[in-house]
Amino acid sequence: MKELEERIAKDGKCFPGGVLKVDNFINHQMDSELMFRCAAEFMRLFADMKIDKILTVEASGIAPAVFAGYLMRVPVVFAKKAVPKTMETAYVTTVHSFTKGKDSTVFVSKEYLLPGERCLVIDDFLACGNASVGLADLCRQAGAEVAGLGFLVEKAFQGGRQAIARVLPGVRVESLAVIASLDDGRIVFAH
Ligand code: 5GP
Repeated sequence: MKELEERIAKDGKCFPGGVLKVDNFINHQMDSELMFRCAAEFMRLFADMKIDKILTVEASGIAPAVFAGYLMRVPVVFAKKAVPKTMETAYVTTVHSFTKGKDSTVFVSKEYLLPGERCLVIDDFLACGNASVGLADLCRQAGAEVAGLGFLVEKAFQGGRQAIARVLPGVRVESLAVIASLDDGRIVFAH
């Protein structure tokens, strides 16, 4: 998606370890109009699929996910990183956080992920694929299905697409901007 690539090129900043900072339009301040247009692009890319629900993980996936849910007229569920007292039973999995360098446990209430549901996973970044594999595990526990996965930004050099293919062979993965390299502080897109 040209508009997203242009914004990344203009405002993205490279950090050591292959991390891209996009705090001024995705991860801290959010450009809601751009997020809406990204969601419209997800809707177009997955238009031929039956989707019952959008699944993401807090916090940065929520903005594109909720706009996609609005446009596709389906509910949006986000996996939580802490269990509220009100959550009675939950599916639980462990996800290694790429940016924080530590494991965290994520939860989805059994009320909101149901057997047979076809879920579209949406997240801000695809790096090593840990968050996606964790969400796929929650779906597996629920007897739900991952119908597809959509990312705003994929860092193709970190192997996330391959990690997803190992647990979800044949499932469609769409990324709106694909980065081939962040070496030497330069953002290089894959085309
Ligand atoms: P993965 O689980 O695919 O290894 O990493 C994806 C998750 O880590 C995303 O949910 C995102 O929050 C975070 N992440 C991974 N790489 C980056 C990055 O370069 N920049 C930012 N801002 N977040 C990232």
